Amino acid sequence: MAYDLIIVGGGPGGATAAKIAAENGLNVLLLEAGEEGRYKCCAGGIPVTNEDFTPIPHSVGEREITGGVIVTPKNGPMEFNATEEKDKGYCMFRTDFDRFLVDIARDAGAQVTYGFRAKGIEINSGGVLIKGHEEYRSKCVILATGLGGAHLQRGLGMEVPPMITGIQAEFAIPESAITEQFGNRVWEFFDRTISEHGVAWAFPKRDAVSIGILGRNIKIRDFKSFLRYSFIKDKLNGREMKVFGCHKIWAAPIPDKLIAKPYRDRVMIIGDACGTADPILYEGIYQARLSGKLAAEIFCKAYEEEDFGENSLSRYHNLLLKHLYKEELRYSYKIHTLLYHSGFLEKIINAAYSMAQEDPEMMQSMIALFTRSQTRKQIWKVMLSRKRKLIKHLGISSSLRLIPTLFRASRI
Ligand SMILES: Cc1cc2nc3c(=O)[nH]c(=O)nc-3n(C[C@H](O)[C@H](O)[C@H](O)COP(=O)(O)OP(=O)(O)OC[C@H]3O[C@@H](n4cnc5c(N)ncnc54)[C@H](O)[C@@H]3O)c2cc1C
Repeated sequence: MAYDLIIVGGGPGGATAAKIAAENGLNVLLLEAGEEGRYKCCAGGIPVTNEDFTPIPHSVGEREITGGVIVTPKNGPMEFNATEEKDKGYCMFRTDFDRFLVDIARDAGAQVTYGFRAKGIEINSGGVLIKGHEEYRSKCVILATGLGGAHLQRGLGMEVPPMITGIQAEFAIPESAITEQFGNRVWEFFDRTISEHGVAWAFPKRDAVSIGILGRNIKIRDFKSFLRYSFIKDKLNGREMKVFGCHKIWAAPIPDKLIAKPYRDRVMIIGDACGTADPILYEGIYQARLSGKLAAEIFCKAYEEEDFGENSLSRYHNLLLKHLYKEELRYSYKIHTLLYHSGFLEKIINAAYSMAQEDPEMMQSMIALFTRSQTRKQIWKVMLSRKRKLIKHLGISSSLRLIPTLFRASRI
């Protein structure tokens, strides 16, 4: 039997695309390599904007997040609070969240097969053939494989995004102790002694905390040395790491950049596979879901027109540029350049936070970095409009050394 649409990959991107295409009455098959309930290495922090797609039940959004703490070596913890609903978020285990998303896709009418790994894809004028331990046919395929399907993309002559690595473990801690030690806050650490990238986190769930670091060429020993970081060591106080699939410490890639062409005849690529993650704090769940929604909507149009050619599917790319790149990722790349390629990561964070103390608009923009309550473009504009103050906080010599990076960032 031939399906209208096959989606390969049952993460947030694939499940969202499957739900939307199935709701439109199409015959959809979602293929997921993992077994139901697989562990996914992810801190699981999402802004409330995820509810644009579906409300998140309490049991899935395990801990409501109402604030954040930024930690730098010089300033230590710097707190902020979400004052409005739009600034809140959730932290949850991806096992539960992804299952929830796949279940609602199934309820909408999508057929779901767990434990199927696509090994090859053939495209011809008659349609798509997905090869694994069985074969499936469809009119079109959406690749939503995260960064686990690079061979499929290359096999189709398509690009794979550049990536960095995250290393993480989940620590079992009683709910009341998490509330006391971490609060309903996400903790982000900016310190280039942790890794060359300088980013680490502690994200509290109901009865576990995800602790992780990210960077290029990072090693387990970098992660272990972060566990000895004073704020982390004190809070963990000898607690045990949880075991998932025989491992305590997990590593996974995160993309760094959008690929140039996420479509060809009968194929669209969404989510991490397409490089949609935001390279400031490296979150990608919302972006994967948005790209899944856009691809599914374009597939529905292409189905009506019976045109699955490259031109028809290029409309997905146009929407991606409009809704995800133009005012969001493009400016994330600018902020990324400034933070991670200037050599002034911690200084910029400290300066921005102290400016925000007496500047509510700046504070709101800092909060929005975590919550997406403003676009990245708005945040960038707020920062640039305070250039003089920033120079004052950074000092003349650092500011002068920042100029080439600022110039590079402004050209993106
Ligand atoms: C350590 C770490 C921490 C993170 N923390 C956050 C965070 O706090 N918040 C946030 O928003 N983002 C976070 N991210 C990023 C987030 O995990 C991804 O951006 C998001 O999962 C992308 O969703 P996706 O649907 O595109 O891909 P994925 O979630 O990766 O899903 C892809 C699915 O495809 C399946 N698959 C792969 N290959 C095949 C195949 N050949 N056949 C069939 N199925 C296949 C996989 O099993 C997987 O289930 C983090 C990432 C890492 C590594």
